[in-house]
Amino acid sequence: MKQVLIEDFPAWRTQARELIQAGVEPSQVHFVDGKSGQPLLFDEPAQDQPKPEATKVPAEFLKLASVAAQYRDPDRWDLLYSVLHRLTNGEPYLLKIDVDSDIRRLRLMEKAIRRDIHKMHAFVRFRKIELEGDAEYIAWHRPDHYIVRAATPFFARRFGNMRWAILTPDESAYWDGAELIFGPGAPRDAAPDDDGLEDLWRTYYASIFNPARINLRAMRAEMPVRHWATLPEAQIISNLTREAGFRVQTMIKDQAPSALPWVPQQATLQALREAAIRCEGCELHKCATQVVFGAGPEGARVVLVGEQPGDEEDLAGSPFVGPAGRLLSRALEEAEVDRSALYVTNAVKHFKFIERGKRRIHAKPGGIEISACRPWLEAELEAVKPELVVCLGATAAQSLMGRDFRVTRDRGQFQPHRWAKQIMATIHPSALLRMPEPDRREQEYRLFVHDLALIRPYMQT
Ligand code: SF4
Repeated sequence: MKQVLIEDFPAWRTQARELIQAGVEPSQVHFVDGKSGQPLLFDEPAQDQPKPEATKVPAEFLKLASVAAQYRDPDRWDLLYSVLHRLTNGEPYLLKIDVDSDIRRLRLMEKAIRRDIHKMHAFVRFRKIELEGDAEYIAWHRPDHYIVRAATPFFARRFGNMRWAILTPDESAYWDGAELIFGPGAPRDAAPDDDGLEDLWRTYYASIFNPARINLRAMRAEMPVRHWATLPEAQIISNLTREAGFRVQTMIKDQAPSALPWVPQQATLQALREAAIRCEGCELHKCATQVVFGAGPEGARVVLVGEQPGDEEDLAGSPFVGPAGRLLSRALEEAEVDRSALYVTNAVKHFKFIERGKRRIHAKPGGIEISACRPWLEAELEAVKPELVVCLGATAAQSLMGRDFRVTRDRGQFQPHRWAKQIMATIHPSALLRMPEPDRREQEYRLFVHDLALIRPYMQT
């Protein structure tokens, strides 16, 4: 495997562009996080570097990548390359698929960076020092991520007529009244104390503090305890609240539910099916009778993906055996497609419902459940390696082709995809069952059969 040392985002961008143009797969390269403490984010590549031909990459990705590059995780460069490779190899709509696990991770990283920058703006406190007769101000702060270059222009705008330095363990920023200069990181004791300025902060904080309206939970969320060491006002909170046993609240982390911990890597369908029985990747397993995994031959050339199991499927433990499944079988027969040669599955593997008396009424799965369950669908597609994936209904289509996909507008159209040579979508048979008007239902049924007949060429060996 090729190893590439990466110092910062511009370096990654240059390397990634060359690797994409050379057709290097994400599995063939590993980006080693070199000088992660001093990212030169947003800079252009050096002028004397050879510039490969431009690769067309959505501007939205570059913006997202430049933010995610500040996230403190050495694997971020590999993740960015994997997404870039997918975007430029048949998945141009990838950024629209919010439930995709890579995209979800990138969005969470972006959110964490924005929150970290906001906290730095809120919690940096300057102390006054005298240097050669001039007043300067110095602050020490410990951000979670590599955000110094993105966060400090705010202070240059706000305190433009002062000279100040903000020290962090990763990198320091110095404002000389005209220009921001970045240097190496510094320990906590590099920022001296100044009781006068701290007293000012304490007085200010006490004057705005209203014990009658105290909300400790909100206060801790807004002022994370790990920043208190650098906040003079934090030292008087306990006196003001008179609350004993003031406990540290950990930062609220965005931990998206996911089936990932239960999904064995590169497993056979049988191994996946057995592992899925234990899945607790989201809340749906708590109420459903059992997991309903996909069914069909491992070497199927075509995979059909529905939304989720229904009431009968939940009881039987098999997909598409209820009314919608029977209608699907009939339509496949009329389209002259052998159902037994297909692999049939759902985007979500547990039945979601609401109880009305003794009846269990289908409830549409939400983005969180679809995203949580997606590792199972990806593992099935990896095991089957189909030529064609057919999405039945909007849930499956939007899960695999992005939120802009409209079944009514885009049905029956083929396009290349990461998990198969081609992918296409048609309506879900349950939508036909819900149509009250017989003529319309018949008309739509004919269209459904027509779409399914498009599968036939992919069935032939
Ligand atoms: S719906 Fe999917 S992710 Fe959720 S518990 Fe069931 S198998 Fe796991």
